[in-house]
Amino acid sequence: MTPPPPALPLLPVPRPACTVPHARVSLANLRHNVSVIRGSLTSGTRLCAVLKADAYGHGAPVLARELCGVGARRRPLVDAVAVATLDEADAIGRISVPLFVLRPIESYSFHHARKQLEAGVRAGWVLTVNCVQTIKDIGRVARSMGLPALVQVALDTGMSRAGAPLHDLESIVLEIARQEGVKLIAMCTHFVSAEDAGHPATTEQLEQFRRATLPHVLAHPDLIRHASNSGGVFFHPQSHLDMVRPGKSLYGTDPAGGPVAGRDLRPILKWTAPLMLVRNLKKGTSIGYGCTYTADRDLRVGLVPVGFADGYSRSFSNRATTLIAGHPAPVVGRISMDYTTIDLSNVPSPNVGDEVTLIDDNPHSPASIYALAKLAETIPSEITTGLGNRIKRVATGHQIEVDILPTSSKSRTTLRAG
Ligand SMILES: *Cc1c(COP(=O)(O)O)cnc(C)c1O
Repeated sequence: MTPPPPALPLLPVPRPACTVPHARVSLANLRHNVSVIRGSLTSGTRLCAVLKADAYGHGAPVLARELCGVGARRRPLVDAVAVATLDEADAIGRISVPLFVLRPIESYSFHHARKQLEAGVRAGWVLTVNCVQTIKDIGRVARSMGLPALVQVALDTGMSRAGAPLHDLESIVLEIARQEGVKLIAMCTHFVSAEDAGHPATTEQLEQFRRATLPHVLAHPDLIRHASNSGGVFFHPQSHLDMVRPGKSLYGTDPAGGPVAGRDLRPILKWTAPLMLVRNLKKGTSIGYGCTYTADRDLRVGLVPVGFADGYSRSFSNRATTLIAGHPAPVVGRISMDYTTIDLSNVPSPNVGDEVTLIDDNPHSPASIYALAKLAETIPSEITTGLGNRIKRVATGHQIEVDILPTSSKSRTTLRAG
């Protein structure tokens, strides 16, 4: 037998600052935002963290663990968490606080969702109901398992979405009382315009909700009434009731749509990617699909390996600004599915591997989540929920760095010494 050839020596390669697109999620900023929210709550109000849509794209399981103090052996920072669907509840993994599933359980999907419902009843999730039929279905599941099913009633006070009409509340509560094994925990509604401090709709909705639920509070003294999203938390203190449900403010985006002096919410996300190529283009050269940008002088440009498939919106083409070590590098040409080209004129000695910031965690930055939302004519939540699975999520601000795998791989998270 001939011995295997000796291994080729590896050439020492300089380690670039940045190797793959990363979304860094700061758990320290998350904890800070929780304390800002807590600080504006009426005393005695419970805090339910809204972690739907994979915690608005940040990675729900790891954020849930942090908020619940799992691993750090400390008390939970929040009193409950909420997700939209049974799938999302499943993906959160084991947590130490009550979990609310906000989307009403639907009769049409009952057969399909039966296994998950059983899992939910076993885990004690609070299931949302908006009609008599699903209460009967849930009652049947609860009795077959010999366990109580916890429910809350969602009420429509103006959203005209999934809440039950107010005039159905009587019959819904009656049905819950009739169904052995179904236990009423909470009643909730959702505001249409809570971000607008002076909007009369909020006062009107709150008044309707209070009036409709009052007789049931007398009958169920432990009933939890809740209505406020982030806008309600900061702009309508009278709407805090027994519990609030902030989402975006946990992630550091102010419901006012921009940073507000005196309210120190800190964006928890910083999205970076490596500079992949540096090129010198001659005056007159066009860049990208559709030739939407032509160099009006000799131009040094850089290629960044992210595109609209990663959530860097095509509407940022020729408009957004990225940053390299704090120097602005504007997007030139059209953003494609996998690539973005940036103008490096203002960046001193750019190198392959330099870290390009696509979304900055500084709320005042030209690459802030607010600046990008404005360009895309949307809200920050749409941008973060649109971040693609190719971007590696890493949670920082803890003793350990946590890799957050894409949601499609469910609640698997891996821990790595950092
Ligand atoms: C998304 C959602 C929230 C959180 O809203 P934010 O504006 O992000 O704070 C609260 N309640 C319900 C029912 C929701 O769907």
